[in-house]
Amino acid sequence: MDTEIGSRTWHAHAKINLALHVTGRRADGYHLIESLAVFTRFGDRVEIALADSDDFAVSGRYAPAVPVDASNLVLKARDALRREVGSGRTPPVSIKLEKNLPVASGVGGGSSDAAAVLRGLAQAWAPDMDDAGLARIGLSLGADVPMCLAAKPLVARGIGDELSMVPDFSALGLVLVNPGTPVSTADVFAALSRRDNEPLPPLPRSIDFHSLRNWLEITRNDLEPAALALQPAIGRALSWLDKAGSGFSRMSGSGATCFGLFETGNVAKRAAAEIRSRQPDWFVAATRSMSSEAE
Ligand code: ATP
Repeated sequence: MDTEIGSRTWHAHAKINLALHVTGRRADGYHLIESLAVFTRFGDRVEIALADSDDFAVSGRYAPAVPVDASNLVLKARDALRREVGSGRTPPVSIKLEKNLPVASGVGGGSSDAAAVLRGLAQAWAPDMDDAGLARIGLSLGADVPMCLAAKPLVARGIGDELSMVPDFSALGLVLVNPGTPVSTADVFAALSRRDNEPLPPLPRSIDFHSLRNWLEITRNDLEPAALALQPAIGRALSWLDKAGSGFSRMSGSGATCFGLFETGNVAKRAAAEIRSRQPDWFVAATRSMSSEAE
């Protein structure tokens, strides 16, 4: 019999790097970056419930692409929090992951799943744990986990873990397109021709669609040329976004997912439908980003 109590679903948002400059490299090999990132409503979903014994199941379009053993970031997050809180205070849980985001695709799906699990389990196991405590555990799982815990428009510096929230940032209309080709983050970083690029320029004083687009024109994703060389399908994803009327198109993270910026959600939905009809095997999603306000 299913004895799960009080199940609750947590959103694991996709992370979109609107701009990403690679500014250096630490002695330990980690790259230094500066990135303006937003998080989308579209993402994975993590359902957590107290149960008789620990359990983990994965469903969704991209379920076959993720491991179901202890190497899944969902279970790494569960186990890291349990170690921190102590096994006496962490009763068994059933976790169900709905994997809607393409894997190894530059939108931080695994990091965001880990963040959702930390948030959800902290509520059940460690309600007194503060955001800084969660971010510290998150960082031990991956450089992008702290920003996925924040899930609001932000500028990330350092190895991606030094976060400054960007206030007064409204939701954006976005279309995400992935041509179905996984890209290894390590391969893209290894293929960089230079690692000492200039930092991001200052953000506009007031951010709207037009000022953001102008700002994006003077920034880059420094990983895009290397990823394009490894995976030319990224170029096709970008040109489909442009053809469908995107105000600005770029690759996110180390690719291959690309985003297009649209002035309204309805225009984004129409563009997504058009791209989907021409490329039925690709991942195409119209979505909105989370604003800087509490939602
Ligand atoms: P980033 O933008 O942070 O580089 P990404 O979107 O490129 O992330 P992920 O989808 O997070 O990459 O996957 C990276 C690797 O982590 C994959 O090789 C995958 O097998 C592994 N992995 C483990 N758990 C998960 C998970 N829950 N979701 C996705 N990938 C996972």
